[in-house]
Amino acid sequence: MKKNLLFILFMFSIDFVAAQNNSDCGTQMKTSWIQELARKTANLQPQFSAPQTVNVPYQIHLIVRANGTSTITLQDLYDEIDSVNAFYINSGIHFYECIAPEIIYDDLLFDFDYNTEESILLTQHYSPNVINMYFANTVTSWSGAALCGYSQYPPSDDYLVMAASCATNGITLSHELGHYFGLFHTHGGSAFELVDGSNCATEGDLICDTPADPTLSNTVVDVMCNYTGTALDMNGMPYAPDPTNIMSYSRKVCRNYFP
Ligand SMILES: [Zn+2]
Repeated sequence: MKKNLLFILFMFSIDFVAAQNNSDCGTQMKTSWIQELARKTANLQPQFSAPQTVNVPYQIHLIVRANGTSTITLQDLYDEIDSVNAFYINSGIHFYECIAPEIIYDDLLFDFDYNTEESILLTQHYSPNVINMYFANTVTSWSGAALCGYSQYPPSDDYLVMAASCATNGITLSHELGHYFGLFHTHGGSAFELVDGSNCATEGDLICDTPADPTLSNTVVDVMCNYTGTALDMNGMPYAPDPTNIMSYSRKVCRNYFP
C-alpha cells in the first residue's frame, strides 16, 4: 500500500499518542493508535500513482537566544524544507509557508525541555490550521534524553519540534512530518512483523510494501548501508530490512528512500 494514501487519509486530523524511547526521534506511539490505523487502512486499495498535489501550510517558529543569536538561520530552514518537498513530491504533497515566520527570543525555550516548556509553545506560540514547526537549539524529552525531534501521530495538535543539530540534516524533518501524517517507524510498535509479509497489515509499520524490520541501528547497518544483522523472525526467517527507508532507525546517511 502506498504511503500517500495514509498521508491523505490523515491530513489535518488530530489526537495523541504515547511510548518509545529513542535518543533520535521522540515521537511516541501507543497500542490504541496502532489498532486505529490498522482499522482505517484495512479496506484501502493499493494506489500506485501520486494523487493531485495537496498543498500543506506551515509556519516556522525559530527559537533564538534573547540576544538574537542562534546556530541556524531562517534560510537554513527554507533550504531544508526544499529538501522535504523533494522527498514528498511522489506522495503528492507540497509544503508552503502560510504565515510569516515567528522568531522567539527566549533563553529558556532556546534549550527546549518537553516536560516544562511544551505547553508554552502550544499556548503562546501556536497558529491554528498550519503545521507549526518549532526549531530549538536542543530538545530534551520527557525522560531527559536529548532528541533530534518529535512530532505527534494524528489526531493531535499540528506541530513538531526539532533540535538545531538535526534540523538541517536532510532527513529528520521529513521523518517527523512522516509521523505527523500517520507513518510509523518501519519497525513499528512491535518486532513481530514476519519476513514473508503474511501479517504486514497488522504488525510493524502496517504497510506491506516495506519489508519487515527488526529495528535498525548503526550497529546492524554498515557504512555502505548494508544490513548486517542476523535477527530471525518468529518463523526462523532472516530479516532483510531496507536500511534506506527514511522512517527507519538506520544510519542517517543511508536514509534516502521515501516512496
Ligand atoms: Zn520517528
